[in-house]
Amino acid sequence: MKTRAQALKDLRRTLAEAGFDTAALDARLLLLAALRVPATELITRPDAPLTPEQDEALAAFTERRLNHEPVARIVGEREFWGLPFRLSPETLVPRPDTETLVETALALLPDRQAPLRIVDFGTGSGCILVALLHELPNATGLGIDLSFGALATARANARLNGVDDRGRFVLSRWAEAIAGRFDLIVSNPPYIASDVIPALDREVREHDPRLALDGGPDGLEPYRILLGEAERLLAPGGLLVVEIGYDQAEDLKSLAGLHSLEILKIAHDLSGNPRCVAM
Ligand code: GLN
Repeated sequence: MKTRAQALKDLRRTLAEAGFDTAALDARLLLLAALRVPATELITRPDAPLTPEQDEALAAFTERRLNHEPVARIVGEREFWGLPFRLSPETLVPRPDTETLVETALALLPDRQAPLRIVDFGTGSGCILVALLHELPNATGLGIDLSFGALATARANARLNGVDDRGRFVLSRWAEAIAGRFDLIVSNPPYIASDVIPALDREVREHDPRLALDGGPDGLEPYRILLGEAERLLAPGGLLVVEIGYDQAEDLKSLAGLHSLEILKIAHDLSGNPRCVAM
């Protein structure tokens, strides 16, 4: 059987030859997941031979990667806001861009110790809500999704990150099944226009759930609903913070005007694109 070092080298070459820009990193992450050992073992025991089980797992992972499945999905976990999140086929892979939303919401809250009530529409893996609950020790949160599978994953992630005593996860189409008022409404809704979906990267198009991407004919349908519900759901002085597509800032300004919501901030992601709007 191959040694770990040999397996790493071979996999890196296989992925590079198949055109993956991230071959070296992918190979390392996939090998570690197949070995099921701590990362340091690649350095301390590079000459250990793979067991038959490890070899089989690595072959399966390699085939999935060659089929353009994102590494995070293959290894079943992704880091967001420095915290670990489990994934399932029914959740979007958390994007670093979405940390902009968490950062913006936190920066605009006047008091992080307050007993804030938060609701997250389209919670998916739960990454936004769990990150917020992690930062806001006295807040409680409601994660809403249309997908049972996503809710189960979000619940597991709340537990994994020690905030399950303050987070509840509820099946609802938008606000249909919920009552009460909230100090903070957050959402990374599906915002891709339906006819743009075929042009997305293969990794997104074939492996992220369509329900988490498709924002209707112009990609703005979820914002019409969210901004429409905001008046009923926001407590006095409450905050609504949503992620947007790189070209949707102007549309959001118009929609906010229709609902007499004041735009407090448009925040940019690491690539410099407008990525989140606070109202
Ligand atoms: N930003 C995601 C993408 O790049 C889309 C996520 C969404 O629709 N909320 O595909």
